[in-house]
Amino acid sequence: MRQYELIDSVLSYKPESDQEVLKKAYVYGTKMHGRQLRASGDPYFSHPIEVARILAELKLDTTTLVCALLHDTIEDTSATIKDIESNFGSEVAKLVDGVTKLTLLEGNLESSKQAENFRKLLLASASDIRILLIKLADRLHNMRTLNFIKDQNKRKRISLETLDIYAPLAGRIGMHEIKEELEDLSFSHIEPRIRDIITERLKVSKRKKSKTVVLIEKELNKVFYDNKTECSVTGRLKKPYSVWKKLEIQQKSLDQLSDIFGFRVCVNSISECYNSLGILHGKWQAIPGRFKDYISTPKKNGYQSLHTTLIGPKNQRVEVQIRTHKMNEMCEKGLAVHWAYKDKNDAGNDYLASIEWINDLVDILNRDGATEEFLENTKLELFNDQIYAFTPKGTLVALPRDATALDFAYAVHTDLGNFCSSVKINGADKRRRTKLQNGDEVEIIKSKTPVALESLQEFVKTGKAKSAIIRSLKEKETHNQRLIGKAIIKSIFSSHRKKPTRDILERSFGPLGVSSLVKLYGLVGEGLASGSQVYDLVFPNNKRKKRIKNYIEDNISIPVTGLYSDLPAKFSNNSFLVPGDKIVGIIIPESGITIYYVGSDELLEYENSPESWVKLDWKKEIEFTFIARIIVTLINEVGVLNSITSTIADYGGNISNLILNEKDNDFYNLIIDINVNDNKHINAIVESLDGLPVIESVKRFIG
Ligand code: MN
Repeated sequence: MRQYELIDSVLSYKPESDQEVLKKAYVYGTKMHGRQLRASGDPYFSHPIEVARILAELKLDTTTLVCALLHDTIEDTSATIKDIESNFGSEVAKLVDGVTKLTLLEGNLESSKQAENFRKLLLASASDIRILLIKLADRLHNMRTLNFIKDQNKRKRISLETLDIYAPLAGRIGMHEIKEELEDLSFSHIEPRIRDIITERLKVSKRKKSKTVVLIEKELNKVFYDNKTECSVTGRLKKPYSVWKKLEIQQKSLDQLSDIFGFRVCVNSISECYNSLGILHGKWQAIPGRFKDYISTPKKNGYQSLHTTLIGPKNQRVEVQIRTHKMNEMCEKGLAVHWAYKDKNDAGNDYLASIEWINDLVDILNRDGATEEFLENTKLELFNDQIYAFTPKGTLVALPRDATALDFAYAVHTDLGNFCSSVKINGADKRRRTKLQNGDEVEIIKSKTPVALESLQEFVKTGKAKSAIIRSLKEKETHNQRLIGKAIIKSIFSSHRKKPTRDILERSFGPLGVSSLVKLYGLVGEGLASGSQVYDLVFPNNKRKKRIKNYIEDNISIPVTGLYSDLPAKFSNNSFLVPGDKIVGIIIPESGITIYYVGSDELLEYENSPESWVKLDWKKEIEFTFIARIIVTLINEVGVLNSITSTIADYGGNISNLILNEKDNDFYNLIIDINVNDNKHINAIVESLDGLPVIESVKRFIG
């Protein structure tokens, strides 16, 4: 196609078009592509010209055609976006940039499963619908010239991609003519033999039925002529690909397909459509249930037509579509036509017209059930709630907006998330919490062991990643609790010079309601049972070795001075007082004297009744040991229990109980009850524990 042909064709539908800019783009493109050749041996620039011609047939605006002429200059020549912008302005530069970006997104798609995602990616990436149209025209011309490519696998791959992505995309925006051509060209490269067979069979059935077809066409024309209705009637042979799809889906033989031939009646107005329908139904019997009115209720993609099936001459089934000429053009060329019609009434205002057109498109896509999609200025943010990112192998992963690289890892595989130590995005090292952009390529770097996920919980967006992290943290916690439980049991038993063998421990299963050692460890580790409880259960007659000297409230008088002999006395509940701790008594007339630690919060209650207070002190000589309680916060490492218990043993303390109290991610709080002589004794133990590097903090709990 020569320069003037393109310009003539544009002027034919849009006389006021800017010829100069088209000429300039033509010259620029010719110069930039220079001596480059196509696989066909043609000069490379023949391709952009043909793309522009396809778009001119759709009656698109000058800007689109200029972009079509320039669409491969960024990728294939030395031209830059800046050059394009300074020569042709920012709108053209934006569109050419958009087309180039879409081209870069194309790749080896692994399977058709990804096709829907890729189509959405294309829609989301095309900031202007014209970018998509140029891309479709580009693909159409490449498909028309695909036979020049020698490599059969490459032809098949490109054809599959066309079938999976571009043909449905064309259908989605109503360009059925382009859709059918793309499908059929792809089919001829993917299944050349099947296509040949079907084409041959179609020819045969056409010959067989051609008399009937001609007859029916004549009959229809006559009926309309008699009724003075101006219309065009055409018999139409289906394309091999759509026949093949029907054969595959309906599992029918070619002869069984009644709708290889259809008739199309085109009239001038909608009222004539319904008139024509009445005429046909009056003349021939209609098959019940086959009538569809897509004029009053258009299809989601905007398709409008009346469909009916009649028992025609010679008892042949005849499928008839009735529509206006405009509807017919709309059906074949899509919204481009709609826009062209609008443009005629709104000459000179390309910009507004194209926005309206995009609005129409968005309307139609919205009707397709995508309500969350919306339009912002001229930007097509159709799938703005989703982003699409690639694996290094080209698998496309759909994620919600604001999803991070870690979400991506979990979306590919749960294990990939659990072992994800770092990521590369488009080849650069990034943090796992990095939010992804459309088209990012994400490579997950795996560690050999599961990674710490605690700090990342808030940086994932997808439910899959969230629940996987929670599960993984829970598993880790359970695992740690079991190790802790095992260590607690071991400490208690060894302080009584016993070994916690499986046989012995099994005796506690029944009373504690567990069924395995692992569960027993878990129970103790979680703090639901204490180590001494387990010990008492397995040695019920051989009570824990308690030193004779141990203070037991029941049968030894309290070694405190200042008490009244006629009043009962006791230590306050939940107190762990040892000799040397500062104490005070509170007299309650009915129940006697209760001994408190002077720092106890419970004393606040008696602040205003000084008559209740009794001064108390420990006796000088005490023969018993007392239980002191300490709370140790330790770093989440199970091995540390050994150094704690041996330190306590070194100071002559005897652990009577160990309870895991509460924990957060990195620390455990351990309650340890120790038999000691007095507060100097326990203070020495606390000080030496405090010196251990594995211990975060240690403090006494007195009461
Ligand atoms: Mn191209």
